[in-house]
Amino acid sequence: MKLGFVGLGIMGRPMALNLIKGGFEVCVWARRAESMAPLLEAGAQAGASAADVAARCDVVFSMVADAADVEQVALGAAGVAEGARPGLIFVDMSTIAPAAAQSIATRLAERGITMLDAPVSGGEVGAINGALTIMVGGDAAAFARVQPAFACLGKAATLIGASGAGQVAKACNQILTGVGVMAVAEAFNFARKSGVDAARVREALLGGFAYSRILENHGQRMLDRNFKPGFKAWMHQKDMNIVMQEAHRLGLMLPSSAATAQLFNALVGSGMGEEDSIAALKLLEQLSGE
Ligand code: NAP
Repeated sequence: MKLGFVGLGIMGRPMALNLIKGGFEVCVWARRAESMAPLLEAGAQAGASAADVAARCDVVFSMVADAADVEQVALGAAGVAEGARPGLIFVDMSTIAPAAAQSIATRLAERGITMLDAPVSGGEVGAINGALTIMVGGDAAAFARVQPAFACLGKAATLIGASGAGQVAKACNQILTGVGVMAVAEAFNFARKSGVDAARVREALLGGFAYSRILENHGQRMLDRNFKPGFKAWMHQKDMNIVMQEAHRLGLMLPSSAATAQLFNALVGSGMGEEDSIAALKLLEQLSGE
């Protein structure tokens, strides 16, 4: 089974490397030559376009930014659909709206291409360590076929349901992580403004019921004032926007998600969109008189 990979950014680069390390023959394409260079050094073949990658592979993965980018990679000029042979499996691992994933899957199916939506959780560290959590929507037989590749990328790949179901699970994940980041930032801001060392608070709380990996990992990076992405604030804004659009469509009340979405809007509006989403702490500090 020959694999293709399109989108070699913070997440895609280490993921494609792990497929090569797992013994797969991998063909890659990215818009910028410098994004492809480390993969070619590791033994990947260079595709000339997404269409070219599709023509040479059985399964093509994409890890780009948002729905418009997936649409372009899958169905745009020189995209996957142009080069694919019938029977190709297209696995989009980007985080996009469930409805967008379903729409792209339907149009690819008309061309004989099976699409899985397979967004991930675990961040850059999980991508590097091959320890991502993978949430999959789509055809069970295609899922089974891709499983050996998923095993190189993550510790757990779960078939959640039909097309779009992986993106629904990812939206749930982003509710929990987005609200979690805001909660940790609020707690640290509260401690500091109360004249208490936030590092000591974190240390104490890690042993209690409020323990979370967000408190442990993101909390430490907040204390280190390390706002280098990681996960860019504008991407978390994009994900909370997906959640709010779905809430609107379904007539759901999601009050904590709504407040978190507003925080990320303000973060991007304040010029911090390219920083990690934990820069939420800086914004809360500024709004609290720092
Ligand atoms: P990133 O570093 O910005 O990488 C995205 C890559 O996709 C870039 O290399 C970009 O190319 C490429 N790309 C975007 N649009 C494209 C297009 N139309 N055609 C070809 N290539 C295109 O972002 P990332 O952090 O890896 O995130 C990728 C996806 O994973 C997002 O959907 C994000 O929400 C999700 N995700 C991220 C994390 C995280 O912690 N970072 C965790 C879980 C999920 P250029 O370099 O040329 O711009």
